[in-house]
Amino acid sequence: MSDISSRGETDSSSAPVHISSLLSDRLAAVRSGVAAAAAEAGRDVADITTIVVTKFHPASLVRELHALGVRDFGENRHQEASEKAQELSDLDLTWHFVGQIQGKKIRQVAQYADVLHALDRIRLVEALNEQPRTLDCFVQINLTENDERGGVQPDGLLALAESVLAHPSLNLRGVMAVAPLDEEPRRAFARLRGYSDALQQLAPHATDISAGMTQDYAEAIAEGATHLRIGTAITGKRPD
Ligand SMILES: *Cc1c(COP(=O)(O)O)cnc(C)c1O
Repeated sequence: MSDISSRGETDSSSAPVHISSLLSDRLAAVRSGVAAAAAEAGRDVADITTIVVTKFHPASLVRELHALGVRDFGENRHQEASEKAQELSDLDLTWHFVGQIQGKKIRQVAQYADVLHALDRIRLVEALNEQPRTLDCFVQINLTENDERGGVQPDGLLALAESVLAHPSLNLRGVMAVAPLDEEPRRAFARLRGYSDALQQLAPHATDISAGMTQDYAEAIAEGATHLRIGTAITGKRPD
């Protein structure tokens, strides 16, 4: 798929990056889909950041996407994310950690991640001691009643947000959610927007909304999403 030399053989940062035309076509299709959904919603597309979720894909794919102008990347597993961030440290990238965070791993994640999308419990905030740099974060809200889906239940949102606001190294950006499997995404994202409004009563600067994936990003844009987390529509199917 890519002709980048395998790691270690040559300095891959100076090797030409071969870009798959399928990849650039898929990226272009998503970019125009995002622009169309923004226009439809009467929003400025410049207010929307598309994070490309590259989990299960090799670092070489991230290099291709970087050559196509992508700077925001998402990963959801610590081991894989930390290896990729290290291998790609020559590129100027923003790493978004979008997966569930284990308490005992959060300090390691904070070493390479620039943005945490799934802060969902006060204990996680407490496990992160003061850091040498500020970490942006979203609090994840569970839009279902199933506690296994991740995210704080809405009635716990403000207490969690207060703990983030009190942390010297965390900068609260807003709310994050994944659409439930059994509900119209637009309806669920409308609720999320309401929680975002409630959060802004407490933290007026925390205006961002991380929502929208391959299947539902247009609905998320219609309900005010500022950060889309898009994987397969751009990367293609995940390799086994
Ligand atoms: C994998 C993942 C995505 C991207 O999913 P696609 O359906 O491939 O676009 C977005 N958010 C989170 C939290 C993910 O784990």
